[in-house]
Order: sequence, then structure tokens, then C-alpha cells
Amino acid sequence: MAIESIGDDNLHKGNIAEPSIFEKVLPNAVVCKSNDLFANARKSSLWTLSFGLACCAIEMISTHMSHHDFDRFGIVTWPSPRQADVMIVAGTVVKKMAEPIKILYEQMPDPKWVIAMGSCATNGGPYYRSYSVVMGVDHIVPVDIYVPGCPPRPEALMYGILQLQEKIKKDSSSSGKSKDK
Ligand code: SF4
Repeated sequence: MAIESIGDDNLHKGNIAEPSIFEKVLPNAVVCKSNDLFANARKSSLWTLSFGLACCAIEMISTHMSHHDFDRFGIVTWPSPRQADVMIVAGTVVKKMAEPIKILYEQMPDPKWVIAMGSCATNGGPYYRSYSVVMGVDHIVPVDIYVPGCPPRPEALMYGILQLQEKIKKDSSSSGKSKDK
């Protein structure tokens, strides 16, 4: 049986994708608003400064592990405020921690976002009106997304991230980040 010969050209093709419709119509040209472009880049590469303060931190850690795989959202956890975009405050904010949280938030470059994970970070949770607990991290830094629960499951945190991504896209059309604070 004759073996069909493969030309040199075909040999080197491999799994090269077909040119997209954009390449066919407008080769080497992309037209979009710069705000949309930056918003898409920002929302798809969020680096989180994880602030595990109590039991909620275990759920946050679990979200980063292989089963829930936070990585697929482009999220990398980063233990330095200098490169982080999102602060996830997971746990009870005791008054002693208020100052370090504020300092670390101020060290993060703009634009930056904050997620309050769990009822403690949202409003004190089970420690409501305790002498030693801050009644919500929004007394210290501006919060963009609240994730309810005690503790919230990883799926809830993932939903919070999806909401944050929506917010980043929306804010881009109103020329930047809208903060009430
Ligand atoms: S919200 Fe509940 S689970 Fe989370 S830190 Fe507070 S007490 Fe712990």
C-alpha cells in the first residue's frame, strides 16, 4: 500500500490554529478602547494579598488548592503588598490588626480592591459589639465585595471574585474605579 507522502510544508504545520476571523478581515490589527483593554488585563490577572486572620482563612486557602483551583481565574496569591491588586480579608479583624491592615493596604499600588470574606470581616460576625473586634474591615479600608457566610465556602469566594471582575469591567467604562469612600 502506497504511503501518502507528506510535503515539507505540511510536516511543519503541527497543530497551528486556523487564522481567526479578525486576522482574516483585518490582519495584524486590533481595535478596542484602551479602558476595555486594561480592564480585561486587570480582571484576568488579579494577584491577591491574602489576609488570613481566623477560621475563614482555611476556606480561602482551600480555594487556592488544586480542588477549587483559583489559578484558572488568573489569580495568584502573593505575600507582598507591592505587587498585589486585591486584598482578601478573611477572618476576625481584631483591633490590634487594624493598623497593619491599613498600612498594607496603603502599600498596594493603584488600582486595588478589597474583598471582605465572611461575617467577621463584614460586620464583626459572632463577635458583634465585642470590645476587641473591629465591626467590619470597611471601618479601616474601602471594601468592594462582601462575601457572606460563617465561614463562606470556596464557591462563595469564587463568586465574589466573579463579581469583582464584573465591577472592574463596569468601572472601566466610567473612567476608573468608583469608590464612595
Ligand atoms: S466569619 Fe465565622 S468562620 Fe469566618 S472568621 Fe468569623 S467566626 Fe470564623
